[in-house]
Formats: sequence, C-alpha cells, structure tokens
Amino acid sequence: MKLTNRSKVVSNKEMTFMEKLYLPEIFKGMAITLRHAIEGPKGKVFAYPEVVKPRAKVWRGLHVLKIDEEGRERCTACGLCAVACPAEAITMTAAERTKDEKELYREEKYASVYEINMLRCIFCGLCEEACPKSAIYLTDRLVDVETNRGSFIYGKDKLVEKINARIDISDRQSELQKKSVK
Ligand code: SF4
Ligand code: SF4
Repeated sequence: MKLTNRSKVVSNKEMTFMEKLYLPEIFKGMAITLRHAIEGPKGKVFAYPEVVKPRAKVWRGLHVLKIDEEGRERCTACGLCAVACPAEAITMTAAERTKDEKELYREEKYASVYEINMLRCIFCGLCEEACPKSAIYLTDRLVDVETNRGSFIYGKDKLVEKINARIDISDRQSELQKKSVK
C-alpha cells in the first residue's frame, strides 16, 4: 500500500548510443562551469576562510572541555555524556586524583583519557545537556580538515581549554548552567 506519493518509479531502460558515450553530458556540464566562471558568482559572497559567514547563536561546533576559574578540569569522568551520545562518539578512561593533582582536577575522579570521534559526532549537543558538571560544551569552532581518519579522534590535548585561552561559551549556556559555572 502506498502511504505517500513521493516514491519515484525508477526506469530501467537501456541507454542509447549517445547516452553511453557520456560526452554530450560532460560538455553540457563544462559549459555550465564556464558560464559561471565568466559571469562570476551571484548573491552575497564570503571570502572564506578570511571572512566567516555569521552563524546563529545556537550553532553547535567543536566541543570544549571546560576548566574552572582555578584552571582545574571540571570533568569527573562520570560517563553520562557517553551514555547520552546517540552516535557513540565519546570514550573515556576514569582515574583517581592523587594528592599532588589537586590543582589539575576539580574532583577526586577525572578522565585520564577523553576522546571524541569527530567522524561519528553529529553535533546534536546531547553530551552538553547530559553533563552534570558543566564540563562539556559545543562551541562555534570548526573541526579541522584532516587527511586521515585517525586525526579526527580528538583527545584532551585538543578538547581541554587552556587557562590562557579560555573559550567563551556564554551564548551556549542556559541560565541554569550560567549559575553553576564559576
Ligand atoms: S554532540 Fe551529540 S553526537 Fe556529538 S559527541 Fe555530543 S552527544 Fe555525541
Ligand atoms: S564531560 Fe560531563 S558528563 Fe561527560 S564524563 Fe565529564 S563530567 Fe561526566
């Protein structure tokens, strides 16, 4: 039974000799490219990457693992973000803080390894919503272009913000989160 009229009947007819040559279609495509090259672009043009198109405040990009005002990592490796992630993009290893590490980690437990596979991530923001420690946020940064799949697995070296280069996530924070982040 047909539920909608959106399905298309795909024809399986034999290609003609001209269609099998492909050349007419290739020339048609090249003519369109040439026309655009001569006429130039239409509409508003952004000279990316020098000029970046403004994004909506709610736009979600590359994650950041926040530190607190004393530079200690907020993440306690509770795993709630990984459980909430529909793409199973987050993995971590929990460790216990030693006496000498009190200045590095906010609580007794921390993530010794925290990785996000950017090829799996769909930037839904559920990890941000699930985090009880206001430790993970999606920012307006972009994931870099890479030439191999392994480089898309971002570890703490790329995710944890630096004390001298804090990342402003105020537009992404709810009022409740703003109160909890100090
Ligand atoms: S943004 Fe969504 S898909 Fe990406 S790591 Fe977070 S929960 Fe997973
Ligand atoms: S980022 Fe948040 S939810 Fe994820 S493990 Fe760390 S504290 Fe838990």
